[in-house]
Amino acid sequence: MAGEAQDDCLFCKIVAGQIPATIVRETETTVAFRDINPQAPTHILVIPKAHHQDAAALAAEAPQLAADVLRETQAVADDEKLESYRTVFNTGSGAGQTVWHAHAHVLGGRGLEWPPG
Ligand code: 5GP
Ligand code: ZN
Repeated sequence: MAGEAQDDCLFCKIVAGQIPATIVRETETTVAFRDINPQAPTHILVIPKAHHQDAAALAAEAPQLAADVLRETQAVADDEKLESYRTVFNTGSGAGQTVWHAHAHVLGGRGLEWPPG
């Protein structure tokens, strides 16, 4: 069922504390941790604790939780003292999604080209 932890999901395991991560923020509904392969000086992932497979599913299945994730991206940027930053949701393998648990990338601390490569 939507929202239930999945045994084979890396990010559900991070939420459960079964895989270590550098957690920078946590709320009742969300966790933010540093990306293991950072693409910028600040590269933090904000995820809902509940499992939803991508951003669109999260918005459809749990809109309040989607709002919680977005609010936390700003909180992360504030903590990191980022005036400018980019929030990215990769959706689908063609767009680079590799983990099927919704997550926002928060990237900052360097110049960011637009449009991205
Ligand atoms: P996606 O490619 O699905 O948009 O983003 C998945 C992100 O998760 C990638 O940027 C990748 O570096 C990161 N990642 C993959 N495995 C781990 C892990 O075990 N720990 C952490 N902290 N990040 C991970
Ligand atoms: Zn999951």
